[in-house]
Amino acid sequence: MAELGSDPERERRAASRRCGPCSLCCTVLRVDELAKPAGRDCAHQRGAHGCAIHATRPPICRAYRCLWLQGGLEDDERPDAIGGVVDLETTGLGVRLAIREARPGALDASPALQAIAERYRGSMPVRITDTGDPNDPERPLRVLLANGVEQRIAGVRVEVLREGRIIEAQSMPWLDRLAHRVAVAWRRWRLGG
Ligand code: SF4
Ligand code: SF4
Repeated sequence: MAELGSDPERERRAASRRCGPCSLCCTVLRVDELAKPAGRDCAHQRGAHGCAIHATRPPICRAYRCLWLQGGLEDDERPDAIGGVVDLETTGLGVRLAIREARPGALDASPALQAIAERYRGSMPVRITDTGDPNDPERPLRVLLANGVEQRIAGVRVEVLREGRIIEAQSMPWLDRLAHRVAVAWRRWRLGG
């Protein structure tokens, strides 16, 4: 979750926003302190009634604010309404927009998520993940880039598409393959898989 810069209009929107009946991040995100994997309901989740351990919830739960809650999206783009949790993330390569689908295929089914992705892909990568089995090293992800280019990554395989048509398919470079395998092994170890 990247901190947003100063923007009076966004800050005005953020000041009036509350999660309300949304609890999508409690399903979609990983909470290591609770050994809760991504994509599974938290044991303390009470839907529209919030969190059963609100007063003692882990620090990461206290700190987390999705892009909508920070005022970075429109009023009608709350995560539970659009089918995914959206964040700005800082990586070693810069900032990207992260869309975590509530269920596989949510982006394709949600005009609102598609509109958000289109707003951002010209200025930063838009990374889309679903909430499939987090232990699955082949769990696919998509990266939308400028000019209609998309990468579809499954394990160490990468397909490059332009305007929906595959123009290239290859394995990741060996260093990325190694990093991928280490990351998968680390994730499995952390989850006790
Ligand atoms: S996804 Fe955003 S709006 Fe929904 S509960 Fe989490 S922080 Fe609140
Ligand atoms: S502990 Fe509470 S805030 Fe944290 S993920 Fe679970 S339900 Fe959500």
